[in-house]
Amino acid sequence: MAGSVFLIGYPLKHSISPVFQQAAFDYYSLDIRYEKCETQTAQLPEVVSRLRQASVFGANVTVPHKEKVIPLLDEVDNLASRIGAVNTVVNRKGKLIGYNTDALAFVKALREDAGFYPCNKNVALLGAGGAARAVIFALMEESVKSITVFNRTPGRGVDLVASVASAAQSTKLSALPWQRLVHNGVLEECDLLVNCTSVGMRYSEADGESPLMAAMIPKRALVYDLVYNPEETPLLKEAKKAGAQTLGGLSMLVYQGAASFELWVCKRAPLDIMMKYAREALR
Ligand code: NAP
Repeated sequence: MAGSVFLIGYPLKHSISPVFQQAAFDYYSLDIRYEKCETQTAQLPEVVSRLRQASVFGANVTVPHKEKVIPLLDEVDNLASRIGAVNTVVNRKGKLIGYNTDALAFVKALREDAGFYPCNKNVALLGAGGAARAVIFALMEESVKSITVFNRTPGRGVDLVASVASAAQSTKLSALPWQRLVHNGVLEECDLLVNCTSVGMRYSEADGESPLMAAMIPKRALVYDLVYNPEETPLLKEAKKAGAQTLGGLSMLVYQGAASFELWVCKRAPLDIMMKYAREALR
């Protein structure tokens, strides 16, 4: 039977998920179409209710609906519920179940692509949006020693830290304003620097910009940019100039998509194929 999986968000013009997800369905000769469904907030309940149809396997949910979709679902798995964000919906016989595959994909890329093991490490994190929240949960699960959040809008960083503090066991959490990035010792001492802002993302308002210049980047740190388009971001270029190890956001994007694929069709995701098509889509 022909089926569908939807990508729900707004805007979706530049998303490359349809390219690499469709490649995965085609690899198994599955008669499933992965379709963009640009959805404004007012349309979300109606769009989500359509996921219950028998021909629909589920959906990916992206900005700005990852939190708003939760009350519209029948069940939310434990990790997604603690993060407070769902990026994958699975239709099990008309029952909608929400998952978050971002957090585990973030850690999988850290371990497998950069050989970095977060336990007991110091982390500086730029940004306080949805991605930052998932990353903080992922890092707390890995028992990092400390996470310092820097955000352009300082109150948002403080609110984020306050909202996850009860889940922090051994991890020390703090939030500082963006201006304090310079000479405060946090960057100098961090083992991992993660960019969870959209700075440097192609087609964004800060396209071509780097949140940090080489002189501020510690050589000893791994610099992980969640931005995946372009594959080598301005931040990663600066990090390389500083002599730091780097990791781009493309593998996380493909890993979270691969985990979604496995939830929808219960088959092993063809990672190499998905990565190849994702890279081609960026070019
Ligand atoms: P979001 O919720 O909209 O948050 C955006 C963040 O970027 C906020 O902290 C915002 O700061 C900051 N920001 C935006 N423009 C800025 C600027 N010019 N200077 C300084 N800070 C700025 O977005 P999100 O969902 O967290 O996503 C953030 C980025 O991660 C996006 O580029 C997204 O594509 C990427 N991402 C990648 C993956 C992956 O799999 N690789 C997964 C998720 C997200 P304010 O609070 O001050 O506005």
